[in-house]
Amino acid sequence: MCGIAGVWNVDEAYNVIHDVLLTLQHRGQQSAGVVVNGFKSVKGEGLVENVLTSERYIPGTKGIGHVRYSTYGSLDEIQPITAHTLKGRISVAHNGNIVDADEKRRFIMESGGIFATTLDTEIIIHYFSIAPYANPRESLQWALSRIKAAYSIVVLHDTFLAAARDSFGIRPLFYGKFQEGYIVASEDVALRVLGCEEITEIEPGTVVFFTDNKPPEIVRFAKRDDRFCSFEFVYFARPDSNFYGVNVHEVRKALGRKLYEEHKLQADIVVPVLDSGFSGALGYSQASGIPIEYGLIRNHYIGRSFIMPKNRQDIVRRKLAVLNAVLEGKEVLLIDDSIVRGTTMKLIVEMVKEAGVKKVYVGIHSPPVVGPCNYGIDTSRRSELIASQNDLEKLQEYVGADKLVYLSVEGYREVFESCGVRGICMGCFDLNYPV
Ligand code: SF4
Repeated sequence: MCGIAGVWNVDEAYNVIHDVLLTLQHRGQQSAGVVVNGFKSVKGEGLVENVLTSERYIPGTKGIGHVRYSTYGSLDEIQPITAHTLKGRISVAHNGNIVDADEKRRFIMESGGIFATTLDTEIIIHYFSIAPYANPRESLQWALSRIKAAYSIVVLHDTFLAAARDSFGIRPLFYGKFQEGYIVASEDVALRVLGCEEITEIEPGTVVFFTDNKPPEIVRFAKRDDRFCSFEFVYFARPDSNFYGVNVHEVRKALGRKLYEEHKLQADIVVPVLDSGFSGALGYSQASGIPIEYGLIRNHYIGRSFIMPKNRQDIVRRKLAVLNAVLEGKEVLLIDDSIVRGTTMKLIVEMVKEAGVKKVYVGIHSPPVVGPCNYGIDTSRRSELIASQNDLEKLQEYVGADKLVYLSVEGYREVFESCGVRGICMGCFDLNYPV
């Protein structure tokens, strides 16, 4: 869960990257970093606003940036990471997890390689350096062709900016024209808010090179085999983002409608668990005719509980407030996008009950999360995933709802097919992992 950005040939690159990363802040809130012309960097723990301040401004027209969900706490571990090689200086910002990082790391170390961080991202730099080419572009292509998944990356070299996605396209990446140059970002919304034109989704298995005085050059380094992370649609991405030309909000709404098709619950009101449960709740409400209501209000200024590692329960109570006046005496159907560990939903049900509801039902517009993600989303180890350990009856009992329903795996897949999203990963829902 990270957001990445790159700019090439754009005035005040630092400020532009800052603005892109602000729009991608939901993808990671624990650290932020940029590298600009001459490979000067600003990095720190915390939000973009706190790290990339105007006092730390670096002049330049080219650079890359990163917001990160998880950090080991050391500044060395905050991306982008930079290294000097015989083929020039190179900085990399990465979204995703390299699945065979341990083996690759070992292979490099056995050959005498040394690492400055524990990040899997550093493997990309090593492969670039050891590639059997003198040319940096060919070296990067070689490196990418040997690293299967999962990555979307931006790479800043002395002579180019590159943006690439693995052959499965598990994590998103886009670029668009801006001023006389280009901007790259994890989600297209970040390009639209800045007024980019000709916004293009980078094809899985390709790398796009941005160099001076030339249009972007697209090079294929691996055969395309689309398995885009469906969880990006369900929970992670902003509702105003689009992947495969399909709007995230619309997909969530369709998932909500499908949930109603499969489970026709009767309730007085549908209450979305904000924010990512909103669109699905709207879909359910529209399909069922049950009015949607604000029963929970979210405080946006304390971060997402999915992301914060400690004191989850306290965070939820501070994050979501209950509207007693709306809920009291009603049969309430809570709609959320997913249940991972189950602790958040259990607490929300508790809070809703405290408001004096008659009944509380819970509808989830994705299937049970039964497996972990190996591709860059922190959906826990299997033992921590509540649905991998319990059947529906036990889950319902655990969260304390009068009824708990999920969307089926088949229904979920059908929604993506009908929306025109080609090739998705649903590994955490059906254990069918692409790699
Ligand atoms: Fe996304 Fe789940 Fe696949 Fe991970 S396993 S990439 S979270 S769909």
